[in-house]
Amino acid sequence: MDESIYSNYPPRLDPAQEQFLVTTVKDWTIHNGLTVRPSPASLPAGADEKGVLATNAPVTLFPSLFPKSCFEEAEALQKVYNELYANITCDTAWLEKVMEELIDVDDFISSLWKVHLAVRKEGYVQPLSLGLYRSDYMVHVPPNATAPSIKQVEFNTISSSFGGLSSLVTGLHTELLSFPPGLPISYPKHPLLDGRVPPENTAVPTLAAGLAAAHEAYGPSKSTPSHPLCVLFIVQEKERNIFDQLALSTQLTRVHKVPVFRLATSEILTQTSIPSSNPSRPLIYTPPFSPSTPFEVTTIYLRSFYTPSDYKSERDWDARLQLERSAAIKCPTVLNQLAGCKKVQQVLAEPSGPDNLSHFLPHTESSVISNLRETFAPQYDLSANGRGRELALNPETAVNHVLKPQREGGGNNIYKAEIPGFLRSIPETDWKRWVLMEMIQPPPTAKNVVLRSDGQVLSGHVIGELGVFGTILWKDNGDIIHNEQGGWLMRTKGKESNEGGVAAGFSSLDSVILI
Ligand code: ADP
Ligand code: MG
Repeated sequence: MDESIYSNYPPRLDPAQEQFLVTTVKDWTIHNGLTVRPSPASLPAGADEKGVLATNAPVTLFPSLFPKSCFEEAEALQKVYNELYANITCDTAWLEKVMEELIDVDDFISSLWKVHLAVRKEGYVQPLSLGLYRSDYMVHVPPNATAPSIKQVEFNTISSSFGGLSSLVTGLHTELLSFPPGLPISYPKHPLLDGRVPPENTAVPTLAAGLAAAHEAYGPSKSTPSHPLCVLFIVQEKERNIFDQLALSTQLTRVHKVPVFRLATSEILTQTSIPSSNPSRPLIYTPPFSPSTPFEVTTIYLRSFYTPSDYKSERDWDARLQLERSAAIKCPTVLNQLAGCKKVQQVLAEPSGPDNLSHFLPHTESSVISNLRETFAPQYDLSANGRGRELALNPETAVNHVLKPQREGGGNNIYKAEIPGFLRSIPETDWKRWVLMEMIQPPPTAKNVVLRSDGQVLSGHVIGELGVFGTILWKDNGDIIHNEQGGWLMRTKGKESNEGGVAAGFSSLDSVILI
């Protein structure tokens, strides 16, 4: 195929075409719930006092091009990744050793670890854990590469978001490509758009089926008399990305007939309880709007509690402890959240030392383990006399790296030339909190057009990040009850931006055309 069709993608829009496409996309997003709550900063003071407004999620007008082989590889590895992180979580002693490095220097990690220790002392009553994961990748094409490969940006074990909205963007682009059939109406004619649509995106049914599997596995009520059962979504106050979450709860209710409630973190201690007389420690949720019908919570899905700002006071830590010590199945447990630390990913990526991958995946073929290992970009700790420290402090090598703390949710990393100065500005004893990672080198020529939530239309060079979703339900002895891969997320950011989060405002939701 003529290479220019890639560099000429997406086709240029003249002003009338752009206006038509933008109008179509704006209307489609609201019509179909591809929406977010507006950022208060984007509105005049007092414009939404009653909290009724919604706006389009930031979306690309075109699907981005993505190498088919890379997409398939990422999908093929997901169930292995699911198992890897389940098994790491089961190996508390291994995890404890990794966490030891961080506990002294990182208050957040230390507080999470204390929650685990408190429940361990009392004894865990729920052997099952649920993971709703997303493994994030970029396509890596270093200058002399013969073929593109995927490198993992990070593995998310808590609040892995955008399954709901991502399925909708796939639907949006598919519809724009398919209607009217065969005629270049929504998009100008381009060979890469001719007769192609994005691959199916099953994120919503897959993630909801994971939650339903946990709900089912919980078994009957542990209360006497018994209570009706429910799933609880623990959410941030004033969550702007609520429609992404509702896509999952609606699927659970409509398809699996499971009652789902949303509870803000500040409401946990007032609206849930564990009867002290019941050694099974069921978590009882009493809805304030229906106090005479308490529910027993089978499964807790955390879309909060992943970042320090979700814990406003000790009370929020007490609330996390209440959830953790209960009989509800946690998605995720504190231990599984900790297994998702950047530090764990750095230890797994170590080229020498113990073969952690083979240890955690004893039944996986060695060729699959090497494929998985191939997705790791080089990562280093910053220990004295180590290679990481040398690379981070030297301005010439620092520019090829990113420095990451043990945090989630975007906006926490230090990039490239800023690394040496940043490290010198903090006490050397704190360097253990960070890992250094080599920058992945995405294709330099990709372009797209973005409709932001405030209506701005931007076009230019972009970098894409593919997330693949997976779910796993397992028992603390390592038995796996449910392990599925399904659905994906494409996020696209301006090439000049180092960061990537959609919720953090850096990138847009996208879909893919496989090439
Ligand atoms: P977070 O937990 O905050 O999402 P990430 O590890 O995903 O942290 O990093 C945030 C963003 O930084 C990513 O979405 C990506 O855009 C960029 N990034 C992270 N690691 C790399 C890397 N090794 N190479 C290139 N970009 C990276
Ligand atoms: Mg990320």
